[in-house]
Amino acid sequence: MNKIEQTLSIIKPDAVERNLIEDIKSIFTQNNLSIKENKKIHITKEEAAEFYKVHQPKPFYEDLCAYLSSGPIVVMILEGDNAVSKNRKLMGATDPKNAEENTIRKLYGLSIDKNSVHGSDSLENAKKEIDFFFKN
Ligand code: GDP
Repeated sequence: MNKIEQTLSIIKPDAVERNLIEDIKSIFTQNNLSIKENKKIHITKEEAAEFYKVHQPKPFYEDLCAYLSSGPIVVMILEGDNAVSKNRKLMGATDPKNAEENTIRKLYGLSIDKNSVHGSDSLENAKKEIDFFFKN
């Protein structure tokens, strides 16, 4: 069943630094996800800690927050049929080593932490994450 959804995508510092913004955006648009909102920002470590707070108990939490705030990122609202799961499929597995061919993480990811993109993992989290970056 098709349903129009919105999801949050982030192009992480490793990909921004390597000038991959347009390449990654074109993967979304070629797969019928339109970019409704889009901004390049540099968040603080405190903002990253708030964004990733579900991961607080994990051993890699500190590194994750330091990393997301280490340089500019691009945050986008993607919209289209089944946008949440479609974006996750286009991203590929968390660890680029395990990602399927032609996924963003397989093409561009460097490591499990420098894995180029973030994408909401459920419709509920998509709403929260969109609000986090785009609600005034
Ligand atoms: P995602 O939804 O595929 O991004 O993965 P998760 O929500 O499980 O994890 C969030 C982010 O934390 C991932 O994108 C990785 O950058 C990082 N991460 C996840 N697992 C590990 C790990 O075992 N070690 C490290 N260093 N980072 C991890």
